Amino acid sequence: MAEFTQEEKEFFMREALKEAQKSLEKEEIPIGCVIVKDGEIIGRGHNAREEQQKAILHAEIMAINEANENEGNWRLLDSMLFVTIEPCVMCSGAIGLARIPQVIYGAANQKFGGAGSLYDILTDIRLNHRVEVETGILEAECAGIMQDFFRKNREKKKAVKRAAKEHC
Ligand SMILES: [Zn+2]
Repeated sequence: MAEFTQEEKEFFMREALKEAQKSLEKEEIPIGCVIVKDGEIIGRGHNAREEQQKAILHAEIMAINEANENEGNWRLLDSMLFVTIEPCVMCSGAIGLARIPQVIYGAANQKFGGAGSLYDILTDIRLNHRVEVETGILEAECAGIMQDFFRKNREKKKAVKRAAKEHC
């Protein structure tokens, strides 16, 4: 299995954060993901649910699709997936199906997390594919970009409500 130094882990998590930034620019929930093999990024993805109106177009799914295409292989053996927020149940399932052996995520997702918070699909011994999981890389940045997004969203909703009242 690939061994990364702390510096390398932070480098790739910053790349995942750049992907999250792309979601943010499109007013999507900002989650980004990269998949790394032999020191190179073979797949990138960001949440594009609103833009494409596709329920399952999470960052991890987009990155897995791209990596599958680049590798010409559905199995992403010897790769490592970096994602800013803990994968949901669907994405945790997809990581197993793609045979990705290692996952690093930035911040936990207490509401929807499928990799430790609500469920622990990646390390469930009943499933035949087990994934090595590490958390907390650039946690503050990964969580911060989400908190900013939701705060701005609430403010926007309040402003809309206020504007609607003034026009009554
Ligand atoms: Zn997901």
